[in-house]
Amino acid sequence: MKSYDVIVIGAGAAGMFAAGFAALKGAKVLLLEKNRRCGAKILITGKGRCNLTNSEADPRKFIAPFGKNGKALLTALYAFGVADVMRFFEERGVPLKVERGGRVFPAQGDAGDVNRVLEKFVAEAGVELLTGCEVKDLAMEGDRLGAVQTSRGRFAADRFIVATGGLSYPETGCTGDGYDWAARCGHRVVTPEPALVAVRLREAWTAEVMDFNLKNVRITACLDGKPFEERFGEAFFTRGGIGGPIVLDMSSAIRDALKKGEVTLNLDLKPAVDAQTFDGRLQRELAEHSNRDFGNSLGALLPRDMIPLFLRLSGIDPQKKCHSITRQERQTLLGLFKALTLHVSGCEGFAKAIITAGGVSLGDIDMRTMRSKKVPNLFFAGEVIDLHAPTGGYNLQECWSTGFLAGTSAAAD
Ligand SMILES: Cc1cc2nc3c(=O)[nH]c(=O)nc-3n(C[C@H](O)[C@H](O)[C@H](O)COP(=O)(O)OP(=O)(O)OC[C@H]3O[C@@H](n4cnc5c(N)ncnc54)[C@H](O)[C@@H]3O)c2cc1C
Repeated sequence: MKSYDVIVIGAGAAGMFAAGFAALKGAKVLLLEKNRRCGAKILITGKGRCNLTNSEADPRKFIAPFGKNGKALLTALYAFGVADVMRFFEERGVPLKVERGGRVFPAQGDAGDVNRVLEKFVAEAGVELLTGCEVKDLAMEGDRLGAVQTSRGRFAADRFIVATGGLSYPETGCTGDGYDWAARCGHRVVTPEPALVAVRLREAWTAEVMDFNLKNVRITACLDGKPFEERFGEAFFTRGGIGGPIVLDMSSAIRDALKKGEVTLNLDLKPAVDAQTFDGRLQRELAEHSNRDFGNSLGALLPRDMIPLFLRLSGIDPQKKCHSITRQERQTLLGLFKALTLHVSGCEGFAKAIITAGGVSLGDIDMRTMRSKKVPNLFFAGEVIDLHAPTGGYNLQECWSTGFLAGTSAAAD
């Protein structure tokens, strides 16, 4: 049986970082990946553009979006922070650019560039990589881990890093194996839940307008009519509901609210102006086209693809002349622009979740080294840990930082 200093399970963002940096520290490292290629999930991040970090360079501010668990990430962020990540990729030939909300992307907009850098990094660091190799079980020897049983044989090591990701987008290889192993070795696992998901709506018409981006809109989420969350930014309708960054970021709160009552979303398509000002705009448009059919008068106010839907929802006869639109009809129209009510029927599950909330409890990991408090030669990195944040590059930064810390700690052991 072959033996190594460090075995890393899972070649995603966290695993490739952990393996590469452990090898750079002089450890003999084996990286095991069940897919035939590394980084399947990286390739689909940021709609194929990979929002690889967030430009917020102050670790104390960076952790805020992670909520109460964020503090645990501080040591890892100080060890390998935002500037280190940006330097890592830029020095390896991937120039970066910063977009809205500090989102950092490769300037060429290709997640494949990020993955290629990582594969090269791992190879050049001297990591032995075995793909198409599924770890089936971890074998304990007393209170320590001794070996892994895989689809391609048994491998022993002094130390092990679990970087198997969460449960979201299972087709990328994430089937929650790390949670089961951690639980069996005595770790508490905070119940995994799908997070950053699209929301399902009762409105059947969403499929008609699903390819259209709603830019600069405001969505207010209400529980039994009372607002509880509000976001401004980008969204889009999906086949059965609504998604996009601002919806994903509210989805955990929406999931909680659904347990308590009726949840609706108020969509304001014109948030830059108040209702009264927009009513004035509507009146001017209608006056300008007074002898035109109403059906041909909305071009200046709405994208073309949305007009048929709006005409239908307004209930106004499209052939009616603009000059005969009543005040009541104009108020209905105003309501559609400024407060279109959408009825939430549920949230999407793991299959379409950007991230898994929950995971190996922070209480069972020494977050200064990423070492398990239950098994002394076991380390964790990445999404498998109970840390998650909204969209914006935070989740991948968590993987880089914890991957680096787990790799260097395991190698230094
Ligand atoms: C559609 C989508 C878009 C996203 N976009 C962004 C974004 O733009 N920015 C951002 O910050 N975050 C984004 N995320 C979240 C981010 O991708 C994840 O947080 C991150 O990739 C998790 O990395 P990881 O290394 O922890 O796990 P993963 O990338 O999931 O890697 C785990 C690896 O372990 C392997 N594995 C699992 N079990 C075994 C086993 N038993 N044996 C061997 N190998 C195994 C898997 O095959 C997989 O390759 C996105 C997620 C999704 C789904």
